[in-house]
Amino acid sequence: MITTVPPRPVYAPESVLDWSEPVVPGELVLDETIGARESWAAVVASGDVLTLVDVGGNQSGDCLIFSADDTSERYSVPDTLAWQGNAYVVEGTVLRSNRGEPLMTVVGNEVDRQDTIGGACGKESNSLRYGHHTVYQHGCRENFLYEGAKHGLTARDLVSNLNWFMNVPVEQDGALGIVDGISAPGRRVAVRAEKDVLVVISNCPQMNNPCNDFNCTPLRVMVTRA
Ligand SMILES: [Zn+2]
Repeated sequence: MITTVPPRPVYAPESVLDWSEPVVPGELVLDETIGARESWAAVVASGDVLTLVDVGGNQSGDCLIFSADDTSERYSVPDTLAWQGNAYVVEGTVLRSNRGEPLMTVVGNEVDRQDTIGGACGKESNSLRYGHHTVYQHGCRENFLYEGAKHGLTARDLVSNLNWFMNVPVEQDGALGIVDGISAPGRRVAVRAEKDVLVVISNCPQMNNPCNDFNCTPLRVMVTRA
């Protein structure tokens, strides 16, 4: 059987990192790069603002949010979407927990809409969707497990997630598409913590569909304090 080898990822030049600023100015308490295909997590204190930069453009940042004090309270897609009555995450969206409580609020957004329906990739779903030759590729699920383990999280804690900078349009007939992104190099989203939260991000390693433009690139994360 002939198998296809996925193209080698192309990384954005480091110089692209130089010109992005936090959406909400303040004391910079964190400024880190999440390398292509890698994972990241940190506690963001209540009131602090996390700015995520799509350094290379159309790079999906899969994201889970937990209450830092009690990780059984975590981001909930149905609570978030039902409360706002809209399928997209936009500026002003309150990201709610499974208890209906605000975890974070989107206070700045340079992409028309952000997805929270498309879910996360993983090596099992990759092999089902794209063939067994992809099973060696780690996905967001593996990134979440790896990063979450550092904070006491396990597979039981992996719930439906946010996909910053990923384009999943809901068509007129209700169909979901995973199509070319509408983000671009340097586009940003900013979320303010409404309580102390643990934010876990998988810089999506997917190379079998257009969610990352077939080109995995770094993300930059900055946290500012008023
Ligand atoms: Zn992914």
